[in-house]
Amino acid sequence: MVEARAVQTYLNYVNGEWVRSSSEEKLESINPATGELVAEAQQSTAEDVDAAVDAARDAFFSGVWSEKKPQERARVLFKIAELLRSNADTLATLLTRENGKPIKNARGEILYAANVFEYYGALARVVLGNIPRYGSSDVSLVVKEPVGVCGLIVPWNSPIQLASWKLAPALAAGCTIVLKPSEYTPAISLEVAKLISSIEELPRGVLNVVTGPGDPTGSALVKNTKVDKISFTGSTETGRRIMEMAAVNLKKINLECGGKSANIVFDDANLEQALRGALWGIFRSAGQSCNAGSRLLIQETIYDEFVRKFVELAKGIKVGNGLDPSTEMGPIISERQLNRVLSYIKSGVDEGARLLYGGKRLTEGELAKGFFIQPTIFDNVSRDMRIFQEEIFGPVVCVIPFKDEREAIEIANDTKYGLAGNIWSRNLFRIMRVARGVRTGTLWVNRHLNPGPEPPFGGYKQSGIGREQGIEGLMEYLETKHICLEISEAFGGPER
Ligand code: NAD
Repeated sequence: MVEARAVQTYLNYVNGEWVRSSSEEKLESINPATGELVAEAQQSTAEDVDAAVDAARDAFFSGVWSEKKPQERARVLFKIAELLRSNADTLATLLTRENGKPIKNARGEILYAANVFEYYGALARVVLGNIPRYGSSDVSLVVKEPVGVCGLIVPWNSPIQLASWKLAPALAAGCTIVLKPSEYTPAISLEVAKLISSIEELPRGVLNVVTGPGDPTGSALVKNTKVDKISFTGSTETGRRIMEMAAVNLKKINLECGGKSANIVFDDANLEQALRGALWGIFRSAGQSCNAGSRLLIQETIYDEFVRKFVELAKGIKVGNGLDPSTEMGPIISERQLNRVLSYIKSGVDEGARLLYGGKRLTEGELAKGFFIQPTIFDNVSRDMRIFQEEIFGPVVCVIPFKDEREAIEIANDTKYGLAGNIWSRNLFRIMRVARGVRTGTLWVNRHLNPGPEPPFGGYKQSGIGREQGIEGLMEYLETKHICLEISEAFGGPER
């Protein structure tokens, strides 16, 4: 597939203006399916980040956003949703070019983000807080106020959906923002910022966007003491570093980190449904999803038959450029990540796991230009192996047999992660016992992924701190203040 598009250079968005970085260096965004340059963006310095934080801080303390009426804030969020919907096709194409995911998934991501903005637009109008009373002359007001300036740091795997999980509640709460997108997906993030910047009712300085790598751009944002909160989505390793850096002024933090989710299939499940769910639970997005079902646990009574069918289905997956509508699995985001995935596959083989299918880079024809790997399936995996314990973030799944509920729960819980998981069964009592036993933030039963932004999402254990989506996601951007009022004298109330 030939791309004959001019390469655009994107600027940072600071205080309502499009500005260059103080650095001459540029960030290059590469199409992972073709190796071609998609766009250039700013490689922002700590100085650029500081200017964006100052703009967000001025906007916050001026009250232009935090003191707007809830319905006015809601209207801006609805407009963002409208713009995402009406530009979904163009945005999806750019998202696929920059990130590689199949075009229908890219479109789905943009529409999901629109749904998130609509949801938080509605929540912006919900009055939160309460008024406990002690006696006839004391009134306690418990009020919710915006946290302040928020640094939002986002990865590349679902760059718009994951940004919406932060931007929408932060805006609904009345916060001001500095967004740092992933260095792999600056163009799609700035195209969305361009759409948002066209909304006249959004005062300047409320949303600022600076692009650049984790260090120095992201770390400058985390270390800046004028930032009140960091909300981060990315790997557990980076999350740990962010937690340390954020300690400088005891910033509030939200961490949405990695996962090693267990997909648990019982012998009473609808096996056709479980097969499809398990297949796309890992190979959708080429395994580059925080909630990928990268450990497939199958009850031993159906193990052989299930694995045979699973391998057959995996062999039929159409791997290719996401712009081709028939593509089912796209490339890995970068050559570096591709080599990382291949080295995990090698470690699996070296440690004695059995490679049932895949394991190789795909290089036939056009695929040679991009970063493609076969869907890869291991069995004979023991729990001390790296491929069982560590997040690979590629199309690699470990298949593991289990005897009963107790063993399934024990295997599922045997990693440092606790993000999500799936249960496939038709026995409601069993489903509830297993769902309560597995220590993760989300469990999908006989399905994969959320139907919408209403339920909260986030991790137990080292998969993160805090929640996104749902009312919980809004609370992350609100502080709680107690105002205690003695009314007897001031208002001539009853004397004590
Ligand atoms: P990453 O941790 O490498 O980077 C994420 C973001 O953090 C990027 O914007 C990056 O530039 C920035 N960053 C990197 N180092 C930094 C530093 N020192 N200071 C400040 N910012 C820094 O992750 P990635 O490769 O972009 O994304 C994949 C990871 O994201 C996987 O581990 C995946 O599980 C996780 N993820 C989690 C969720 C969730 O909701 N829990 C969702 C999607 C992805």
